[in-house]
Amino acid sequence: MGPPGAGKGTQASVIAGRLGIPAISTGDIFRASVTQGTPLGVQAKQYMDAGEYVPDEVTNDMVRDRLREPDARDGFLLDGYPRTLAQVDFLDGVLAERGQALERVLELTVDTEEVVARLLRRALDQGRTDDTEDVVRRRLEVYTEQTAPLLAVYRDRGLLVQVDGLGPIDQVTDRALEALGG
Ligand code: ADP
Repeated sequence: MGPPGAGKGTQASVIAGRLGIPAISTGDIFRASVTQGTPLGVQAKQYMDAGEYVPDEVTNDMVRDRLREPDARDGFLLDGYPRTLAQVDFLDGVLAERGQALERVLELTVDTEEVVARLLRRALDQGRTDDTEDVVRRRLEVYTEQTAPLLAVYRDRGLLVQVDGLGPIDQVTDRALEALGG
């Protein structure tokens, strides 16, 4: 977990690689669907471009389907999901059905102005249509309103570990792996 621009995607793929499990990024799946022009992509694009969350029903079904793929049978790292309390409930149900449970929730902590600067740089590099300044600020607001409250939920469950997301990528990875237990 962490606000947009915290570096979740970068760290998720490195950490998942080290752990030998798939990184499942809802943002990546939505972007791929948009590129391919699938019905899911068409539906998701309007929300993403406005900095809003894609509706829970759409996101939840997509994650449940992705978790059914064979590579996720024995473990996975979720990046960008859950992001709402309804998604937390849904994920709890999916995992209970599978006889699984979350082992850890990792939060990358970063300064808000730093992430805005990062995202605007990324906009120049990658041309993401949800990286304009207004949309970036809206995504941060949505994170604060809808996703930040999940941190307390996972803290109460004893699952939350927090890692400073500022600094060189490999140092953040080292901190994260240490926080996850080696
Ligand atoms: P960031 O973390 O920088 O916001 P992501 O790639 O994780 O970027 O997500 C991009 C967009 O995809 C979000 O702004 C949102 O519209 C949509 N999205 C991703 N994950 C979810 C989710 N779990 N629930 C709803 N919408 C999501």
